[in-house]
Amino acid sequence: MVIMRAVLDASFFFGEYPAEGEIFTTPSVIDELRDIRSKGNFEKWSARGLKVQSPTEEGQKRVNATAQSTKDYAVISGTDVDLLALALDLGGVLHTDDFAIQNVAIVLGVPTVSLSQRKARRVHWKFRCSGCGRYSEKDGECPVCGAAIKRKLK
Ligand SMILES: [Zn+2]
Repeated sequence: MVIMRAVLDASFFFGEYPAEGEIFTTPSVIDELRDIRSKGNFEKWSARGLKVQSPTEEGQKRVNATAQSTKDYAVISGTDVDLLALALDLGGVLHTDDFAIQNVAIVLGVPTVSLSQRKARRVHWKFRCSGCGRYSEKDGECPVCGAAIKRKLK
């Protein structure tokens, strides 16, 4: 059985996302976690086996060279380079929503997974009158104008 290796960027720790297999991040990502929530998430994933690992210098060099060729060099941070390099080193899948990282990853052949697409979607319903536009707690008939109150996604 192939165990999937996942490399997580900082935004992973700012939300609630699923992760499977062997999970990794870089020391530079941990440096970016300053609030209680993301630090708490880091603790939680550490207890589940998250490994903090630095990329190899060779990996960083390859990423830098590629980012220069794709003109993404100006917009990717040192942390981004580390993440891409670590994903290269480990043959892992990079979990990120950052477009510049995804751009460079494609050229490097590093697979990426978008965080927002995997996020357990929380649905917030709203009820609004189709006649007068008044918001309501529930559907039914509008007490003001009598038109139908419809449920819609926030
Ligand atoms: Zn109404």
